[in-house]
Amino acid sequence: MSYLSWFEEQAAKHKKVMTKLLAKNLNKDEIIAYFDFDNMVIHEPEFCPLYKELNAKGKVGKKCHDMESLNCYLCACPNFRFDDNGYEQRDGKTVYSFCDIDSKDGKQGVYGDAIHQDCSGCSVPHHVSYIKKHYDTDWKKIMKACHN
Ligand code: SF4
Repeated sequence: MSYLSWFEEQAAKHKKVMTKLLAKNLNKDEIIAYFDFDNMVIHEPEFCPLYKELNAKGKVGKKCHDMESLNCYLCACPNFRFDDNGYEQRDGKTVYSFCDIDSKDGKQGVYGDAIHQDCSGCSVPHHVSYIKKHYDTDWKKIMKACHN
């Protein structure tokens, strides 16, 4: 799957959940709380494929990051940058994505002749404090800088 098709699919899923929550007149704090991983696994099983996988305890719902309190409102991340056509060549490899803030917890991963941003060690967009700071009901507005 290309970055752009994943991005558009995620935008549509987010919008579907938001349309439901806004129709119920939930406020910002209530909406963000709804996107808590544990709640989403139960109420929005189609939002993320990991919600149906088994975790280390053998229960349904596998977290993408090892965090006690994981919030899914900003999956992916406003700092992620991608271009399916590639940004540049580096040592004969094509760079397809990077982190705009060069997070100390992120890294560039090499996969054959491709370089992709590896966010597996970074929890920036999953903290409620960060989400509150960058909040908008329109996910695409928050993510507008992710691609050209
Ligand atoms: S490394 Fe962290 S801040 Fe950077 S794009 Fe990935 S999740 Fe976002």
